[in-house]
Amino acid sequence: MSGPKGTYDVLPGSEFGATAAVREALLAPSRLAGYAYAEAPVFEATELFSRGVGESTDVVTKEMFTFSDRADRSLTLRPEGTVGVLRAALDAGLHKGQLPVKLRYAGPMFRAERPQAGRYRQFQQVGVEALGLDDPALDAEVVALAWQAYAGIGLRKVRLLLTSLGDAACRPAYRASLTSFLDGLELDEETRRRATLNPLRVLDDKRPELQAQLADAPLMVDALCDACRDHLTAVQAGLDALGVPYEAAPRLVRGLDYYMRTTFEFVHDGLGAQSAVGGGGRYDGLAELIGGPPLPGIGWALGVERTLLALKAEGLDAPGEPTLDVFVVPLGAPAKAHAVGLVGQLRAAGVAADLAYGDRGMKGAMKAADRSGAAYAVVLGDRDLEAGEAQLKDLREHAQVAVPLDAVVETLKEKLL
Ligand code: AMP
Repeated sequence: MSGPKGTYDVLPGSEFGATAAVREALLAPSRLAGYAYAEAPVFEATELFSRGVGESTDVVTKEMFTFSDRADRSLTLRPEGTVGVLRAALDAGLHKGQLPVKLRYAGPMFRAERPQAGRYRQFQQVGVEALGLDDPALDAEVVALAWQAYAGIGLRKVRLLLTSLGDAACRPAYRASLTSFLDGLELDEETRRRATLNPLRVLDDKRPELQAQLADAPLMVDALCDACRDHLTAVQAGLDALGVPYEAAPRLVRGLDYYMRTTFEFVHDGLGAQSAVGGGGRYDGLAELIGGPPLPGIGWALGVERTLLALKAEGLDAPGEPTLDVFVVPLGAPAKAHAVGLVGQLRAAGVAADLAYGDRGMKGAMKAADRSGAAYAVVLGDRDLEAGEAQLKDLREHAQVAVPLDAVVETLKEKLL
């Protein structure tokens, strides 16, 4: 029996077995930068997403997992993390305290997309949000934290695409000029529909024949008001100061409606069609859209599966679970009783230790020790116990020494820590 369409299981040795370690590694730079851990529910009122993510987006119109609870309230499994975390922060009144409010999160998101390599119906994101200020230096920090997340995990082939989507002062006029440009083109029905809902979305279409028609389309970056232009220039200066390279991407539009001004995406060229490993931007109008006070904000979300696929494409190892240091092999009941206590002491001392459970004979237990990946085995027979010692085996060098029982933990700590 397999799991539902578009899902996968995280198990040792499986394709996404390193999920937990990757989540942690990607968020490590943000943790150091003062982004506190946040967690919002996996489901929310459907209205939160239709208002927040936007009625014109594919996510809301086609991809939400929506259901009713027993009191007939419409609920939806979260398709992204920003709206829920923002709702939670507003609910708790965090915006009335010290600003910016800096939050980080990790967890599963749900979108009823057509599954393919790198695209799943339940997938993992890590994210950060910085709320309460529209300081471009904060934009630069947020973008740099994602850059450092990829660099920290070892990826070399990530590119940062950066642009500005303008704001309420300059986007409406630009939108009108783009709409009249699009009106003059031969567009298929579906594209025409998208142009009516959100003309900017058409610019991001990957089809070469459409891109050819769009060669002379007006661009948002050429139509920015002074405030938005200054903001973009300051973000770029901040990224220069932080040593983060970026590429201007004037046609970048993202799949969620709430973005304005600073907008960015991280792509990896080793991933084929699903090349976006992460993305984000500024969403200064979002708090009001979901019924809160005006509150600027900026954030990103990075895809965990695509990060793992990118590591594989670059031939890099994913961060792993801690490997075992010591495997204890008791032979006989009194030795087993002692071994249980010894493993407890080793773990308490910070040594990764395990025990040959199941009362196997010497041969089977030593095989288990070899397979465990541990560097050392402690073999404890009844005769050793009587003599007050244990046999310490170096499993790599195949050397063995007798160690007094009360010195086993200290000896191993010295060798390992
Ligand atoms: P978005 O929330 O659409 O901006 O997505 C942010 C990142 O999440 C993307 O760059 C992907 O890395 C990842 N992502 C989005 N949708 C999926 C999906 N269906 N399956 C796997 N990863 C996804």
